[in-house]
Amino acid sequence: MKELLERKQGFHRTILIADDEFIEREMLGAMLCDEYDLIYAEDGSTALDMIQERAGMIALVLLDLHMPKLDGYAVLKAIRSDSEMRRIPVIVLTAETEAEVRSLHLGAADFISKPYNMPDVVKARVGHAIELAENSVIIHETERDSLTSLFKRDFFFEYGKMLDIQNRHMPMDAIVLDINRFRIVNELYGKQFGDLILKRLGNSLHELVRYTGGLACRSGSNTFYLYLPHSNDISGDLVRYTTKINEYLDDRKITVRIGVYSDDGSPIDMEHRFDRAELACRKLRGNYSTEYVLYNAELHSRELHSERLINDIDKALSEKQFKVYYQPKYNITGEKPLLVSAEALVRWVHPEFGMIPPGEFISLFENNGLIQLLDRYVWSEAAAQIRKWSDKYGVTLPVSVNVSRVDIFDPQLSEILSSIASACGLSPHTLLLEITESAYTDDSQQIIDTVSALRSKGFRIEMDDFGCGYSSLNMLTELPLDALKLDMNFIKNIEKDHKAYRLVGIMIEIARMLEVPVIAEGVETKGQMELLHKIGCDIIQGYYFSKPLPPDEFEKLFEKTD
Ligand code: C2E
Ligand code: CA
Ligand code: CA
Repeated sequence: MKELLERKQGFHRTILIADDEFIEREMLGAMLCDEYDLIYAEDGSTALDMIQERAGMIALVLLDLHMPKLDGYAVLKAIRSDSEMRRIPVIVLTAETEAEVRSLHLGAADFISKPYNMPDVVKARVGHAIELAENSVIIHETERDSLTSLFKRDFFFEYGKMLDIQNRHMPMDAIVLDINRFRIVNELYGKQFGDLILKRLGNSLHELVRYTGGLACRSGSNTFYLYLPHSNDISGDLVRYTTKINEYLDDRKITVRIGVYSDDGSPIDMEHRFDRAELACRKLRGNYSTEYVLYNAELHSRELHSERLINDIDKALSEKQFKVYYQPKYNITGEKPLLVSAEALVRWVHPEFGMIPPGEFISLFENNGLIQLLDRYVWSEAAAQIRKWSDKYGVTLPVSVNVSRVDIFDPQLSEILSSIASACGLSPHTLLLEITESAYTDDSQQIIDTVSALRSKGFRIEMDDFGCGYSSLNMLTELPLDALKLDMNFIKNIEKDHKAYRLVGIMIEIARMLEVPVIAEGVETKGQMELLHKIGCDIIQGYYFSKPLPPDEFEKLFEKTD
């Protein structure tokens, strides 16, 4: 690019004149030497060698068709079929009209008729061909992703829409393709290897689109979009594509997941088709055995349901349809279990759908940032509740609230939490903040900074779902935190599976090393409770003690301890 710009600013461009007739070379040379640097070849094979050697610096080739060793047609063909050389425009020099047509078909930019009796025409055609070619290179570079040479997202949609307008009746399928666990691939094998994988995938998609028609783009770091003419056998095609793509990626078991919206004649626009393909693709997250999912009626009704929930959130917040439940946490290190805190867990009592568990809407709201509104609501409700109980029972029970990934990237987070606490006259240490382990590994430095800021204000941090992410021991020692909360999947089998039990033991040892207490959640049975007590778990939360309860029921627990 830089080279191109320099050339544009008055540097002399280089033109190769390939002609076996001395007199013809001289005539052209005389017309062009003031404005261009000229190099010469006397036969086709020398010309091709020169182009290959200096592909980056030749701005134009003037090519005679009849030359010894290799004729002009063969040279032209070789240039057009090479990805490096093909950007160089070629003007064919000929005296035969028929040859002009044929060479244009072979990809020549233009032709100049022999004999050259109008120098101005020659100069104009030369200048024009160079300018066109250079502009198209610049356009190519702005429209394309530099790593894969596929379209960038915006241009992809722009061209896609043009395609739709030009071929109004041509059905088009939208395909979204994601590399599974790409972040881990990068972390394990390095960014360079990750880039290589992206390039390979880019190449295979180029090839695919060349074969099927349509467009391809790199839409996100490891997400690719394909907009292809509709296929009646999309399942069969996908099996073939994935086999081919996986061949390309064969290294270290890297696989892709694919979501498809297959055109069924509904009049929806391109962007919406891709939303649907994305939805289908998301269904495969964490599932590495299935390779593709087609958008279908079930997904459609889920989509409508999700849209409905998104539409309803404002009203639900203002009408307080969200109810915060509290699940007690007991300290089990002493003789008798002691109520030490509670976790605030939200439910939605929807006027039409009834009680909706958080599993149905949390991740939906996480995808579009609405979770921040809901989280703030829950934090405020929880703070108000701590205040109420404190006033009523004379004990200030700390409550933990969930903090989403999105919240952590909000620069105002600690101010918001501080003002929520102080509005209820609470000190920050009564609000425990649960942050999931996997958020820690997303962008560890940012999280470390945010969490450190929160702790310095007095908030306490619990790492939620510990064991599910993949923090290294090394990283753990650097993380600012006040408690580890084991993921409930580890607790599930400790009674039956000795290995699971040992694993929990190891995690407890890690917590000891970090000098923080351990919380086990999802504890359902007496047996689990006793085993956890035996290996030194400090705090327990789970159905064994109590389900999450609405505040008025939770209060009975206070009364019990009295
Ligand atoms: P989590 O933070 O891991 O919460 C623990 C989940 O385990 C809760 O599910 C709780 O009801 C459930 N649970 C507790 N004890 C047991 C048990 O003994 N056995 C079993 N099988 N389950 C138990 P819930 O309330 O459905 O919440 C699910 C998830 O939704 C939570 O997982 C949390 O990630 C999210 N969530 C809930 N409320 C909020 C919120 O206000 N904000 C955010 N950002 N996320 C929330
Ligand atoms: Ca939690
Ligand atoms: Ca959890």
